[in-house]
Amino acid sequence: MTADSSPDAYSVDHFFSAPSARLDRWRDVHAAARAWVNREVERHAVEAALDEVGVIEEYYAFPGPELMAALREQLQDEDPTGFLSLSKRISLAIITGNYKHDPKEWETADDIFAKPADLLPPAIGAQPQTRPYFELLLVTPAPAPRWPHIIAEFRRLRRPEDAFVYEVVPVASLEDAICAIVLNPDIAAVALYEGFALKSRYDAPVLRRVIAAQKAALEKAGEADLALLLADRLKAIRPELDIYLLSDRRVERLAGDPRATIFRRVMYQIEEPLELHLSILEGIEARYETPFFDNLKHYAQRPISTFHALPIARGKSVFRSPWIRDMGQFYGINLFLAESSATTGGLDSLLEPTGNIKRAQEMAARAFGADRVFFVTNGTSTSNKMVLQALVAPGDIVILDRNCHKSHHYGLVLCGAQPLYVEAFPMPEFSMYGAVPLRTIKKALLDLKAEDRLDRVKMVDLTNCTFDGHIYNVRRVMEECLAIKPDLIFLWDEAWFGFARWSPFLRPRTAMGAAADIEAWMRSADALAKYERHRAEIGESPSRETLLDTHLVPDPRAIRLRVYQTNSTHKSMSAIRQGSMVLVKDVDFPTVEAQFHEAIFTHASTSPNQQIIASLDVARRQMELEGYGLVMNAMEVALDIRREVNAHPLIAKYFRIVGADGMIPEEYRTSGFIDFLAPGTRWDDQLRSMREDEFCLDPTRMTLVCGTAGFDGTSFKGLLASEYNIQVNKTSRNSVLLQSNINNTRSDVAQLISILLRICNSIETRLMQGGEGERQAFAARVHSLMKDVPDLPDFSRFHEAFRYDAGATTPEGDIRGAFFAAYAPEDCEYVRLDSPECDKRLREGPEMVSANFVIPYPPGFPIMVPGQVITQAAINFMRQLDVKEIHGYEKAKGLKLLRPDAIMSKNDARATSSARRRSQAA
Ligand SMILES: *Cc1c(COP(=O)(O)O)cnc(C)c1O
Repeated sequence: MTADSSPDAYSVDHFFSAPSARLDRWRDVHAAARAWVNREVERHAVEAALDEVGVIEEYYAFPGPELMAALREQLQDEDPTGFLSLSKRISLAIITGNYKHDPKEWETADDIFAKPADLLPPAIGAQPQTRPYFELLLVTPAPAPRWPHIIAEFRRLRRPEDAFVYEVVPVASLEDAICAIVLNPDIAAVALYEGFALKSRYDAPVLRRVIAAQKAALEKAGEADLALLLADRLKAIRPELDIYLLSDRRVERLAGDPRATIFRRVMYQIEEPLELHLSILEGIEARYETPFFDNLKHYAQRPISTFHALPIARGKSVFRSPWIRDMGQFYGINLFLAESSATTGGLDSLLEPTGNIKRAQEMAARAFGADRVFFVTNGTSTSNKMVLQALVAPGDIVILDRNCHKSHHYGLVLCGAQPLYVEAFPMPEFSMYGAVPLRTIKKALLDLKAEDRLDRVKMVDLTNCTFDGHIYNVRRVMEECLAIKPDLIFLWDEAWFGFARWSPFLRPRTAMGAAADIEAWMRSADALAKYERHRAEIGESPSRETLLDTHLVPDPRAIRLRVYQTNSTHKSMSAIRQGSMVLVKDVDFPTVEAQFHEAIFTHASTSPNQQIIASLDVARRQMELEGYGLVMNAMEVALDIRREVNAHPLIAKYFRIVGADGMIPEEYRTSGFIDFLAPGTRWDDQLRSMREDEFCLDPTRMTLVCGTAGFDGTSFKGLLASEYNIQVNKTSRNSVLLQSNINNTRSDVAQLISILLRICNSIETRLMQGGEGERQAFAARVHSLMKDVPDLPDFSRFHEAFRYDAGATTPEGDIRGAFFAAYAPEDCEYVRLDSPECDKRLREGPEMVSANFVIPYPPGFPIMVPGQVITQAAINFMRQLDVKEIHGYEKAKGLKLLRPDAIMSKNDARATSSARRRSQAA
């Protein structure tokens, strides 16, 4: 096969963007064919281009062996026009996906052209009347010349009553199979016919690249059972796939092998092919099924009179009203038919599910790799509060990132656990924080241990990934923490990261992915030996420095693996706003189950929205059936944006998307990874970074620096929204955050780029026409935005009055006590930021103690929490802050403080009452 000699063949974007790489190859074929028509090149140039695409096409059902053969025939027949038109027809069909429902596309005669109107993808909202389409990967020892017959045989099995249609992709070897499922997102099921080969008959670079990533795992090939090995690899890459094994061995015995549970079914090879066909469809159906949504649709069709309180149900009050009819017209009748406050009629109860919600949650657990899933209809804000309340009690210590979402801080206020804030590494040039270094977390645990108070700490609570895209080395964090305290509970707030499960690159860095890996490690034969070697290395009583500096290994016999993940399904998947999930993988869940239900009862609405529940059910279905392709696409879009912005001669003059090197300090990137598209960076560098580095960057979250174009984040966000209909989310002083998700397309990229270009052009014009004065003003503005960036204030400390049962060296505090102390107005006072009083108090005391949370947006985390001593750094930051939205602060009144005398008397009272308790006890 041809060598792939282009220098960027190994670049990260090529690896992530299999679909567009494929289309690029077809474009090369067209270009060559056109040149051939014009007699500018010889046939062999076209042949070479076709060879390039040919290897890739082996892994897709369409165009398939027959159309490819037809193309080659036209080559042989020296028919340039015929070749050009057929190759164009094929690639158009690939782009539109039309072949998925139009049998004409598969025909080889070139007089068949689909009408142009048919080629348009269905409009949003239009309902294509076609059955969903997928592809079956067939790994077979049958010789390639037989493949067209095999394909035809499977087509003959189709029945009108089948709910789905599929085409077959035959491959001959383990290597090809891995390649196919990596490259082809339409593959939803795999049938392994025993006797297939290990090595591919090709040596194409695209194949070698994919296989190299599997190198470690494949080294065992030869000794292992090839089918089991392949199944294991396929599941590691795409756990949602159904795998069938067709064997000519004693299938009864094989089916009894515990390892065979990896197969959805083991069958005897010469059994009825119809049996396999039906099993495959049933496997897809098991993912397609959405128990709650299916029932809700059914419910909406039934004639039901309601005498409960929900006037809007059935929509009569809406559609009959001359005044609010437009609401009905806007939303459509089904919204109202599907509204109900009933938990009967098969609708089930979210608070105590026993029917289809329970099943929907179980299916979500399967899909997300959790033991249990709880649907939440009030956002991850509520999910976090539920988990905190369920697992920690007043007085317990929770180690958490001070920059985490406010739901965690408020959750601790509610449940009375004490936060031990740990600080993320700062990114002063953008006035934002990264993520919390593992060393900082270990230090907090070791400090507690040194004071013999390790039993007080119940949980480590971190955000993965952060708003700006920092991804933890989740497995390593958990392992090292468990080495210090083996029953520690982890709450990973993956509000933004739910989609990551469907990327084999990101999955190991999700809570559930890492938990699964740890679990597998604990069960592995060499876990104990590894632990014992580690113990021997660090010695009997290792010093604190040794513990901080060593990669700690937990005792596999002692670990209680207790992992919780919350995700805003609505933020990264197709769920309606506020749709959220709690994922649980906790070996001790039975001991907290009752508490967990109490927490649900505390926080969940008793009127959960049916539509949100249904959308959670549907979002799961989508991810299980097409999540892999959608996430790959989101990554591709992100890499496109990164490349286009940073490489464009004019745009790059004013804007830039920060690379991994700008987002993550070098010390946390020991792999040496610089950025996805940095010159010379190969996709395997990225893999290594994802595997090894303490932090890596989610490619779909892009920090776009706009300060260099003279915009602060907030006004740039405003400009994009008001002038260009582009919405972005978060801002910092000099940047905005762009995100790609499963909804984005390549035209979105084009749109964004053209708008940035327009903005750059207008800056250029302004600078040119405005003369020296304008240029100086611009430079000054840029300088101010990029250089005069306020230092972010780290968490100072809790006032001693709220640290009555805290450790001597550890910084936790009673946030709830401080929060409620502010409920007595006479105990509070206000000090204006700009007042001399403020400076005087900073200089001479008494210390100013915050009465509440103060949360500016941006950056969106609390600059002050209740009970916190306010320091010069916090005041400086507040004074420099030029944002409008600051929760918990009214400029006219000033900072709300707890009065010093009130704090003292509280302290005295507490001292007296504990003295009394002690004397009574004595
Ligand atoms: C958005 C967000 C939340 C809250 O989720 P909602 O679904 O909006 O309630 C919690 N944590 C983080 C990190 C978030 O970004």
